[in-house]
Amino acid sequence: MEKLEYDVVIVGGGPGGSSTALFLTKSGVKKVLLVDKARFPRDKICGDAFSGKSMGIARELGIVNDFDKVPHEAVYGVLFSSPKGTMLEIPFPGTEKGKATKPGFCVRRLNGDNVIFQNAKKAVDTIEEFTVSDMIWEDGYAAGIIGRKKDGTEIEVRAKMVVGADGTSSVIAQKTGQGASRPEHQVIATRGYYKGVTGMTGNIELHFIDEVMPGYFWIFPLEDGWANVGLGILTSEKQKRKMDLKKLQEDVIANHAVFRERFKGAKIDGQGIKVWTLPLGSARRKNHGNGWLLVGDAASLIDPFSGEGVGNAMTSGKFAAKHISRALREGDFSEENLKAYDTELWETIGPEINTSYNLQKLGKHKWLLNMVMDKAATKPNVRQAISGMLSNEEAKKNLISPLGLIKLILT
Ligand SMILES: Cc1cc2nc3c(=O)[nH]c(=O)nc-3n(C[C@H](O)[C@H](O)[C@H](O)COP(=O)(O)OP(=O)(O)OC[C@H]3O[C@@H](n4cnc5c(N)ncnc54)[C@H](O)[C@@H]3O)c2cc1C
Repeated sequence: MEKLEYDVVIVGGGPGGSSTALFLTKSGVKKVLLVDKARFPRDKICGDAFSGKSMGIARELGIVNDFDKVPHEAVYGVLFSSPKGTMLEIPFPGTEKGKATKPGFCVRRLNGDNVIFQNAKKAVDTIEEFTVSDMIWEDGYAAGIIGRKKDGTEIEVRAKMVVGADGTSSVIAQKTGQGASRPEHQVIATRGYYKGVTGMTGNIELHFIDEVMPGYFWIFPLEDGWANVGLGILTSEKQKRKMDLKKLQEDVIANHAVFRERFKGAKIDGQGIKVWTLPLGSARRKNHGNGWLLVGDAASLIDPFSGEGVGNAMTSGKFAAKHISRALREGDFSEENLKAYDTELWETIGPEINTSYNLQKLGKHKWLLNMVMDKAATKPNVRQAISGMLSNEEAKKNLISPLGLIKLILT
């Protein structure tokens, strides 16, 4: 067995793990190893929307311009449709189509994650095609990890800190006692790449159609006329209704009055429709302990309304790096000392996750969605108010209070 020794070992090179590595380097930590069971570029089932929040962290890391070198598509707003079919286009504030500034974009994770990983690879040691299967413990402290390379070589990595950035089915979350999310705090979703969908508008599209409610059907624009198409619903609802999501997506595309027209000449690529789960931030995990931290999906941080998780994965990587470098300086890797990571992370993302959890519950009421979207479709000031709410946390609260909604409808 090969034996290695580092200050920090990060399991998983997705946006969470690679951001942790890059922020650690920025704060002067040198002995860092980043491992992943895949070889990059690798695919990740996703909607491929890289939001303003993700862009903000990429900008902080100095890597945002690298995304211009890979295929991507700028997005300028959100197109919603209500259960009764009202369409509502809400531009992101300060956006004009065709202008160079783009508040967000869609980039296949195959390409986008590779941008972040390759930057991390320049900064820290990495091992790809290395699957971690267990953790090493000493005196109640995490002391490293054990895994196997694709060629069969077993490797033991000893480290002062272990970071679990290994996604939805995280081995590190399991080994540190954080079980999988309950079905009511998990979304199950599909993804297919289609070429030739008509009627694209430069927006990401969220359609609250009857067939998928209380979830939604999405169409996100990609490069060269491709689109990322999927639908998602709470796992608890899927189980209750015994839904077959792949079949549902095929049915919507073949039979829905609007989408059968838009998909008439469209073709899905050879991968077909794939399915994956999203662990939501509405269930709060303990993300720290003696000698270990969790980030990203391993920490269950996905927005319960939008399904966005890349931004929070990168944000948690930033805070994890901050508290790991502090713990290294202090020589204190205790649960007590690392608690500050969880506290700072949740003080930052907690209010937004709570708001989104309330919006998710509100989204179950068809009549309410119909009413708000009907009103917004005819009143520019209501559209403007919603646009502001999409980018402003305080304002978003109006959307989840009955009084705020009544005000909006009566405006
Ligand atoms: C259908 C769907 C649509 C989504 N749409 C969006 C969207 O449009 N925008 C958005 O922001 N978010 C979206 N999300 C959420 C987003 O995909 C995740 O929140 C994000 O990938 C989390 O990043 P991460 O780095 O924590 O995990 P991941 O990106 O999953 O990376 C984890 C890494 O760990 C590696 N790994 C796993 N196990 C091991 C092991 N045992 N040993 C070594 N390596 C291991 C994997 O190979 C992987 O590279 C969507 C999710 C789904 C399922």
